Amino acid sequence: MKIGRIEAIVGPMFAGKTEELLRRLKRMEYAHKNVILFKPDIDTRYEESYVVSHNKNKSLCVCLKKSVDMFNYVTDKTDAIFIDEFQFLDDESFIALKRRGIRIVLSGLDKDFRGEPFGVMPNVLALADEVLKLRAVCVKCGADANCTQRIINNSPASYNDPIILVGATDSYEARCDACFEIKDKKYKYE
Ligand code: ADP
Ligand code: MG
Ligand code: ZN
Repeated sequence: MKIGRIEAIVGPMFAGKTEELLRRLKRMEYAHKNVILFKPDIDTRYEESYVVSHNKNKSLCVCLKKSVDMFNYVTDKTDAIFIDEFQFLDDESFIALKRRGIRIVLSGLDKDFRGEPFGVMPNVLALADEVLKLRAVCVKCGADANCTQRIINNSPASYNDPIILVGATDSYEARCDACFEIKDKKYKYE
């Protein structure tokens, strides 16, 4: 019996999660394995139906609304599936896919802009067979960065800012714990 496995790649934005996902994907392609690349369809930062890293590596992918949609694409020939931005999906399907003998490699943000565990990701980290936690470089001090800093109209976001802010310039940067700032200190882990 073929036994599948779940590999999780996590960390803040700019940590190299997508790069690492695509690196592992390309190795499977060199080995002529049957692979499928997915991402949730809410991530429209870049072209539809491509997974793109910050240093412009890109690969064609299938967009998903929910993780169960993966069953529409997976066949008995599928060796591996790769999923980017997993924080926007759910944990309903990957264990069943692993039982079919499939290698599942996923990447996603482990914490949100408030510094709190991101949605489904604590479950993902617990259920994975292997976890790689990457760090970016802090744009303020150059230390290893563990946090995703949200910037709205040139200043740090407030804890209470909604995820979608119409009409504001919203951006993100990598910061270490010391340089991470959150306005209106309701930070749960303060
Ligand atoms: P992630 O998917 O984790 O957001 P990517 O794999 O898309 O990250 O991009 C990682 C790349 O981003 C790095 O290889 C580097 O070229 C670039 N980069 C830009 N800003 C930073 C930063 N502050 N720290 C680390 N890498 C950065
Ligand atoms: Mg990414
Ligand atoms: Zn710093």
